[in-house]
Amino acid sequence: MEPTELFREAVLWDPAEGGHVHCRLCNFHCRIAEGKLGHCHVRKNIGGKLCSLNYGTLCAANADPIEKKPLYHFQPGSRSFSIAAVGCNFRCEFCQNWQISQAALESGRIDGETASPEQIVKAAVKTGCKSIAYTYTEPTIFMEFCNDCARPARLKGLTNVFVSNGYMTRDAIDFAGDWLDAINVDLKAFSDEYYKRLCGSRLQPVLDSIAYIAKNTAIWIEITTLLLPGQNDSEEELKRLADWLVTEAGPDVPWHISRFYPQYKYTDSAPTPLESMQRAERIGKTAGLHYVYLGNVAGTDSENTRCYNCGRTLIERTGYRIAANHIKDSKCPQCGTQIAGVGL
Ligand code: SF4
Repeated sequence: MEPTELFREAVLWDPAEGGHVHCRLCNFHCRIAEGKLGHCHVRKNIGGKLCSLNYGTLCAANADPIEKKPLYHFQPGSRSFSIAAVGCNFRCEFCQNWQISQAALESGRIDGETASPEQIVKAAVKTGCKSIAYTYTEPTIFMEFCNDCARPARLKGLTNVFVSNGYMTRDAIDFAGDWLDAINVDLKAFSDEYYKRLCGSRLQPVLDSIAYIAKNTAIWIEITTLLLPGQNDSEEELKRLADWLVTEAGPDVPWHISRFYPQYKYTDSAPTPLESMQRAERIGKTAGLHYVYLGNVAGTDSENTRCYNCGRTLIERTGYRIAANHIKDSKCPQCGTQIAGVGL
């Protein structure tokens, strides 16, 4: 079968022996036989060519606050036109969006509304968004559609953001580097055993992506860690994670610690206790991170941005809403300290 309009030829692949193809988009590096699917179930070898099966089939499209991604230091207070296609390369047992991320695996179906890149860019402009977010599922595995939206989006003055598990290859980061302005990467734990057991993946490629993006690209990066009680929240593990972030991504990288609620296959656990969240916050700050936030927790002031030098509250948040932004020219109005970010 030849690739059709809906089955677009994929980017970043090579022909391999015996009619196989080698996908270079993510660190699974699948070698796929003729007629077979990759590990993500949305890329297929069709007639010796690697094709994307989810191109232009969107399972979600919403104008969200950028704070929901979460990105707290990138165009704060703006809205981001947020889209997703079915599929993921991870198998996280606690996935919050499993109905769409695991749909291709669980049901073999790639459902959604057909949309063109032009329609997405138009919708983003019409809804007053400043950016397009490729999110909810893993954007790496619909990279072709991201690329085709992002380039015209730039011409309209929009920025482009990913919310990602960080499993993309260096090739994929370089490919997106032409148009990707910001990314939130999940650093789910600081243990390879956790990644293998609960996510069906490995830790090191995620660390490599974070370090590469932070050191070698102009992409603004923030990190999110979902705290699973008894699984990734020990003092020792969180200290190692926070120390690694300071060294490899720098003290200005915002760290979002997110509260877990039972989901998908992981339902035999209580939500993360508030004390664990606050302990993780203290560990992050003690390690030297300038900006540590608690997510999915109401009624604390740990969603506000403070100046790490003088303590002045700079951005006041209520959930995803910005109540006040006191930053002036990217600086603290009280002590003049530079506040890291984009469009602050
Ligand atoms: S993007 Fe899909 S096909 Fe490609 S290496 Fe990753 S899991 Fe395999």
